[in-house]
Amino acid sequence: MPTPLPTNYDLHTHSHFSDGALSPTELLMRAQERGISHLALTDHDSVSGLEEAYQASQVHRVNLIPGIEFSCHWNFQLVHLVGLSIDPDNSQLQAGVEENKARRWQRADAIHADLKKRGYDVQDKVEALLVKDSVPTRPHFAQALVESGYAKNKKQAFKRFLVPGKPGYIAMQWPSLAEAAGWIQTAGGVAVLAHPMRYRLTRTKLIRLIKDMLDVGVNALEVATPITEPQQMIMLAQLCKEHNLFASRGSDFHSDDQPWAKLGGAPLLPEAVQPVWDQFNPTINPTPN
Ligand code: AMP
Ligand code: MN
Ligand code: MN
Ligand code: MN
Repeated sequence: MPTPLPTNYDLHTHSHFSDGALSPTELLMRAQERGISHLALTDHDSVSGLEEAYQASQVHRVNLIPGIEFSCHWNFQLVHLVGLSIDPDNSQLQAGVEENKARRWQRADAIHADLKKRGYDVQDKVEALLVKDSVPTRPHFAQALVESGYAKNKKQAFKRFLVPGKPGYIAMQWPSLAEAAGWIQTAGGVAVLAHPMRYRLTRTKLIRLIKDMLDVGVNALEVATPITEPQQMIMLAQLCKEHNLFASRGSDFHSDDQPWAKLGGAPLLPEAVQPVWDQFNPTINPTPN
């Protein structure tokens, strides 16, 4: 029997259909170069890149896991829920995507109005950055502010603009965690709490979030990311064990401008955890091995 090829999963990536720099085709090409065997495209509130990604996955012989990253609210806290192995044609999922897209377009209009009121007009620049069928994100605004000379880089743009108390900040009403989880699950997908350390929750609060997640059937944590410290990974793996959670591995790759989040750059999952891919729906991933 031939030895099976080693697997190498990256289950959190972005394309230019949200705030990533690459097209899905370029992303799949890059995945092949970096020895990734299974790649999930998880654009913010969008499945528009999945068709192109699927075509490219066949050319580049990478298994595509259809995915999404939903913005949602848990107790007034913004959290990101990654959906993996989803059926992008599911009508309830699509209705959820349309709901969040509408929220994003409304916010974009409000950001433009607020920035213009304060003397910063970046509407033409933002529009030039958006590819057809993509969703507007704050990084598009940050980029446009840089191009207009209002900030020296995107990091500075996210300090001076677009955040609470600064020009261009608009508070959002995202769907609840339960709603977003429902959209993913109805589409046959597995919901994963993205980058759990990013929310800066106390341990007590993180456990409360995990319990509320479990109540709505979300049973996975993103344990391995390029910016997760070894100690944090041990802690997250322990939480997985205590609460019977599955573990995911993803880079959150957006572009080469973020050297800390390279495609395929997440460490391997700790041995003790159960990988999230054990739960994937085999009928939804028809790409060849
Ligand atoms: P949005 O979902 O449109 O509000 O945009 C959120 C996205 O902005 C995140 O997924 C990050 O990719 C990016 N982002 C958030 N904060 C920063 C920051 N301080 N610097 C650079 N990018 C950021
Ligand atoms: Mn992003
Ligand atoms: Mn995120
Ligand atoms: Mn992401």
